[in-house]
Amino acid sequence: MAAQIDHGRVYGHLIGNEWVGGDSGQLIELHNPATREVVGKIQAGNALDVDRAVRAAKAAFPAWSRTEPLERQRLLLEIAARLRKRQAEFAVMESLNNGKTLIEGLLDVQNAIEQFEFYAGLTHLRGEVLDFPGSIALTHREPIGVVAQIIPWNVALLMAAIKLAPALAAGCTVVLKPAETVCLSVMALAEELKDVLPAGVVNVVTGYGRDVGERLVTHPDVRKVSFTGSRATAQKIIEYASQSIIPQTMELGGKSANIVCDDADLDAAAESVVMSTVLNKGEVCLAGSRVFVHRKVRDALLEKVTALLARIRYGNPLDPATQIGAVSSEVQFDRVMGYIEAGKREGAQVAFGGGRASVPGLANGLFIEPTLFTGVQREMTIFRDEIFGPVTTVIDWDDEADMIGAANDSLYGLAGGVWTRDLNRAHRIARALETGTVWVNRYYNTRPGMALGGVKQSGFGRENTHETLSHYTQLKSVVLNLAEGPLGLFAPPTPSA
Ligand code: NAD
Repeated sequence: MAAQIDHGRVYGHLIGNEWVGGDSGQLIELHNPATREVVGKIQAGNALDVDRAVRAAKAAFPAWSRTEPLERQRLLLEIAARLRKRQAEFAVMESLNNGKTLIEGLLDVQNAIEQFEFYAGLTHLRGEVLDFPGSIALTHREPIGVVAQIIPWNVALLMAAIKLAPALAAGCTVVLKPAETVCLSVMALAEELKDVLPAGVVNVVTGYGRDVGERLVTHPDVRKVSFTGSRATAQKIIEYASQSIIPQTMELGGKSANIVCDDADLDAAAESVVMSTVLNKGEVCLAGSRVFVHRKVRDALLEKVTALLARIRYGNPLDPATQIGAVSSEVQFDRVMGYIEAGKREGAQVAFGGGRASVPGLANGLFIEPTLFTGVQREMTIFRDEIFGPVTTVIDWDDEADMIGAANDSLYGLAGGVWTRDLNRAHRIARALETGTVWVNRYYNTRPGMALGGVKQSGFGRENTHETLSHYTQLKSVVLNLAEGPLGLFAPPTPSA
């Protein structure tokens, strides 16, 4: 499969269905973190490139926003079909550029396909009719216009799909900015979109965030920004968006609590702890990276978790037997290793892993052992910060109210898990958690249609749901008067007799 990838490929920006060179003439290399080889090159975009892309998106908007809903549905299904046809190839691209395992790549592509299929069923924008005695009010739902979408590198293709599918279903046109470290799969998707969609409907501008992002969000013809990424970048984007007062969707980080009660199915709970640590090398915003385990079952759970972790298979991410991949970039590798050192320094105990992993034949690869910290205190950095790597912290509890207080004592509120066979307790804890999603008795139990998104500093707005269409549309009221003639407010006074 890997032979199908053209490692020398230099991608332009996709503007108006043409691949065009960037104004700066500078390129950025995309790397394979498992081997450090170059797997492609992209343009280092700038404000002039953004201006061209927004012009193309603006020109495409009038016709695209007036396409028949069934036509948009057909096109979204066509995109899904093209991804399905090349699923293995796209999975290889994700693995090559992000370092994730081939299996994870296949899952990402599957999830991306499902985004296009899900929103293909939502292309009829629905308004409302309100009847009043003397009038009829019609509420039209109208596409908002040109939207800016900025995405991260952890699940690049899936992020592109989660952003593009609802915007296209709603009749918006898009300028998409993928991450500068991982976007091989997004550029390959762009190539498919170029064949399927009218010119200018989706434009892709690559480059560093600071060079592309500010102009994109402040451009006067951009009507909305949807962002997924870090808190720090979100703060800048909200500031940019304040210039032209455009609405924002923010999908940010997390430090989710995975809560194990004393009556939990410990085998299933242990599996979830391992999955959350290992899946996509922990580079998942929803990861349950704070495990709260009831003191009575702590030792039993840890025994099961460490036994499972010991069986995790390292190897080339492209080998279907490999179960943990390489960390996406050098910057991220240093960041995660820095947190592991901080955890040791602050006095937490390493119950598993805790260092660089060596993978035979891939000496330069950016591999980190799945790492489990116990003896964690609530004020430790590793318990508070989002690490975004294969590192899980474990803390024990015996008082439910105190545990919930600690779980909610976080800047973030993206997701959470509860393991219990007690229905009342499950609902009580789920309701008390300040978070956008709670999974009971299965972590990462997500299907298209279920709202995903955060509270507190994990952001605002929901994706993966029909409600996402409201991000890309606005309501207009048209009020039809049924009575004839003036109201008579300013009629001359009747002369007195
Ligand atoms: P990041 O904020 O560094 O980068 C995200 C994107 O923003 C990239 O495309 C980057 O180029 C761009 N960017 C950077 N500076 C910018 C600027 N000044 N203006 C405009 N754009 C700019 O985040 P990251 O490190 O790529 O991603 C990891 C973060 O994303 C984590 O916090 C993770 O939890 C979060 N995330 C959240 C979700 C979710 O759905 N909530 C999903 C995936 C990742």
